[in-house]
Amino acid sequence: MLFSELAGYYEKLEAVSSRLAMVDILADLLNKAGKEEVSKVIYITQGVLAPPFEGVEFGMAEKLVEESIAMATGFTKAEVERTYRSKGDMGATAMELRSKSKLKRMSSHSYTVMEVYEHMLKMATTAGHGSKDIKIKMLANLIAAATPVEAKYLAKYPLDELRMGVGDATVLEALSKAATGDRKLKGELENAYNLCSDLGLVGEKLMNGGEQAVRNFRISVFRPIRPALAERLPTAEQILEKMHGIASVEQKYDGFRCQVHKDGRKVRIFSRRLENTTEMFPDLVDAAIQEIGAGSIILDGEAIAFNEDTGEFRPFQETIKRKRKHGIEEKAASLPLHLFAFDILYLNGEDYMKEPYKRRREELEKLLKGNHIIVPSNRIVTTVSKELEGFFERSIEGGLEGIVAKDLESKYKPGAREFSWIKMKRSYKGELSDTIDLVIIGYYRGRGMRSEFQFGGLLGAVYNEKRDLFESVSRIGSGFSEAQMVELREKLDRIKTKAKPARVDSVVEPDFWVTPKYVITVRADEITKSPTHTCGKEKQHDGSEVGYALRFPRLVGEETIRSDKGPEEASTTEEIIEMYNLQKRVKVEG
Ligand code: AMP
Repeated sequence: MLFSELAGYYEKLEAVSSRLAMVDILADLLNKAGKEEVSKVIYITQGVLAPPFEGVEFGMAEKLVEESIAMATGFTKAEVERTYRSKGDMGATAMELRSKSKLKRMSSHSYTVMEVYEHMLKMATTAGHGSKDIKIKMLANLIAAATPVEAKYLAKYPLDELRMGVGDATVLEALSKAATGDRKLKGELENAYNLCSDLGLVGEKLMNGGEQAVRNFRISVFRPIRPALAERLPTAEQILEKMHGIASVEQKYDGFRCQVHKDGRKVRIFSRRLENTTEMFPDLVDAAIQEIGAGSIILDGEAIAFNEDTGEFRPFQETIKRKRKHGIEEKAASLPLHLFAFDILYLNGEDYMKEPYKRRREELEKLLKGNHIIVPSNRIVTTVSKELEGFFERSIEGGLEGIVAKDLESKYKPGAREFSWIKMKRSYKGELSDTIDLVIIGYYRGRGMRSEFQFGGLLGAVYNEKRDLFESVSRIGSGFSEAQMVELREKLDRIKTKAKPARVDSVVEPDFWVTPKYVITVRADEITKSPTHTCGKEKQHDGSEVGYALRFPRLVGEETIRSDKGPEEASTTEEIIEMYNLQKRVKVEG
């Protein structure tokens, strides 16, 4: 496939305003792509070079791309910058200057998708002395040989601005449609994706080996598995009832989710978002080598900073200081972590995910016996709600967040939030005790006191998994520091869109729409029914539609933008409805 054809599809994708239309266009694109091109087409369409866990990044800032455009079109750097300032978008800048350029297209060669991909990969992985100039030149070579429309996407790709608003679920649906004509294979594809976190690989398997290859998909060490998530309930009684009278109740640690993969002396650690965080945790890597006897293994757990002298857990604000790029070794020494392993997914060639929790747990305890750093999570097994409550209270007293109860008979459910794991946190009374993660879908211009920051607040959405859409749930106008307002304005300005993005459902109109990309954490007093927001909306008897909204939301959290969550990892519509129902029950009882 020629890159110009791919660019043509992107033009179509950008022009549609519904998700279903996106699926159709993508399915068509995936069918037209050659078998060896499918995975690359998927990566490019999501704006990446490889699945996120491989950590391949372009390392190109705007200035470099501007230089490439200048070199390829013959305009001066100042002219490129001026155009960029007026257009506000590097793709549009490249397109316009390419078409106005007096320099002829440098060669008559039309690049294929494969060639562009390989060129880009080489460019991204060029490192060391002089690499900046090499990158500029490499991108310039591509743009110089491109048509204006191709130039647009070539300039956006290295800046992480290519993501066509296509989410994972949309790609999976399009793959199913491409292979079978409808969505019937989506479940199987999702399952394969949950086991490897690599959409390109899933696409490649499907298009080369057919449905059978997707059904036979197996986990493997060093490919992260999408983590299981927990549901929530407010009382010990309800938890025990849901678990048929008996539960394993584990302490809930508030730190970093760590999926540890080990084969011999090679260790990789993945975050909840499946990024490779191995470099951040040299102490855990050492411990994995020293303390885990098994040859090859995949463990799931939570790492938390720990005071060696007093035996106390440290709060999240302390633990998060381990998240850094420099001074890693020093911080590891002053703020040592313990990894509380709570699951085992794979051991010496055997897939453990299908085994019941109680067998997995037994194996885990056997394997980690006598360890100091990588230890099993603390837990009790109980049938008595008073006992569960007591364990919960002691966990809170010990500085932890609460508990996670686990169904003894359940399998490990990758990528799913189900009742086989149920969390209970401090209290669901009064203000909502759980924070909510929102995707930013728009923002407001600053008026009055905030006009100097040109920032007046955000429009936030939750993720509706069934619809694979973002539904508005609240405006957020408080909790921002001045520095945060500046940061948000700058970041959001770059991802402004002219119209409402195809995967956004909102009747509220912000001053500016943005591509759903950034996740923030808010705390709210209450969830209310609302005719204004589309989150969980339902038709009423009188034909009007009512959804849910947050009351008094304010920005909280250690980071302004959550670096560990992508838009599809924000709170879901279902969670909001659940939290609404929990809160109602507490009110009636209280
Ligand atoms: P939440 O982020 O509030 O939805 O809670 C789920 C998270 O709790 C998981 O993603 C883990 O990172 C963390 N967690 C801490 N302790 C445990 C545990 N014992 N079992 C399962 N998850 C845990």
